[in-house]
Amino acid sequence: YNNEHLSTDDRYYINYILSANKLYYNVLNNINFDIPKKFEGKNLNIKYLNNLIKRYTRRYKGKVPYTNKINSFSIDTGLYRYSKNNTNENYIYIASMETRKRVPIKLRDSNKYNKTLKIKIIDNVVRIHIPLEVESKENTNENIIGIDKGYRYLLATSNGNLYGEKLNYYLSKETERLSDKNKNRNRFFALRRKYLEEGNTKKADNILKNNLGKKKYRKNKNKHNETVKSYINKNIDKFIKSEKPKEVVMENLDFVNWDYRYPKSVKRKLSRWIKGYIKDRLEYKFKLNSIEFTYINPAYTSQICSKCGRFGVRNGDSFVCEYCGEIHADINASKNILERKYDKEIKMFTSYKKVKEILESRVADIK
Ligand SMILES: [Zn+2]
Repeated sequence: YNNEHLSTDDRYYINYILSANKLYYNVLNNINFDIPKKFEGKNLNIKYLNNLIKRYTRRYKGKVPYTNKINSFSIDTGLYRYSKNNTNENYIYIASMETRKRVPIKLRDSNKYNKTLKIKIIDNVVRIHIPLEVESKENTNENIIGIDKGYRYLLATSNGNLYGEKLNYYLSKETERLSDKNKNRNRFFALRRKYLEEGNTKKADNILKNNLGKKKYRKNKNKHNETVKSYINKNIDKFIKSEKPKEVVMENLDFVNWDYRYPKSVKRKLSRWIKGYIKDRLEYKFKLNSIEFTYINPAYTSQICSKCGRFGVRNGDSFVCEYCGEIHADINASKNILERKYDKEIKMFTSYKKVKEILESRVADIK
């Protein structure tokens, strides 16, 4: 949006890469790949554009945390088979990296599937996840509704309603807990180092065992995550039930910044999965209920007045237009988001600068 030096083809190429996971992965990992046919013959500086994608990814996503231990992976049909062992117990045999060597896993039931399976390993327990096909419900609604991901709320709608007003409370609580927890862990790490330097390995080991336990930490974290997830789901359901949308207009949540007063490292960890989760659940529930959803260019939707189109001042939950007065900032934004759907000039990839010019020219005449 911001880079006005990019041509329409450049933008198209970047968007294409971003929406194709495999290609995006190749770009980020410097793996060579064939440029899609549709871009052949266009005047594109692929190397420059790929570097740009990498740079922007680093800038906006931050450092992506990685674990050395992968605890989940998918396997396609053909890479596993079911069989009983010689004592008549049910097993699944999963292909491994070694040729002809399959890894046997004992099953608790005799169900057999012929689908891509997701294997998860948590605390030495192997779980097999099987995707189910769900039929969409019929939708006879008429409403087209704009939504905004709020500053403190889960959703604000162009009808003037708010959903999930406690989301921020749950998140703040968890961020505080994580901050405290990290402080404690750092203290124990220091203590452990001290014991090791003194040669007191027994005390050092005790600290590792009792105070730096990953299991308890993970259990608490999971418990919190489940609470947040169920809260998000409950409120999306509430939104669908009360607003009865036929179509929902929204901004792509990938681009939304969340504002917290907590350390960057902590909030990044939290907000990344939360944003991804909200996006996934919205899309899932919209598909399930046959609700169309449309993404729009969100540039300046939180900065202009939804009544007169002039630029106003946003202060936390409140938006003030010099001419029209005060309105809830997120509701104002969701009204603008809905309007963007019908905007003849501002398209998905219109640059920020251009959007600003257009918006300013519209209000230049009214004084
Ligand atoms: Zn106004």
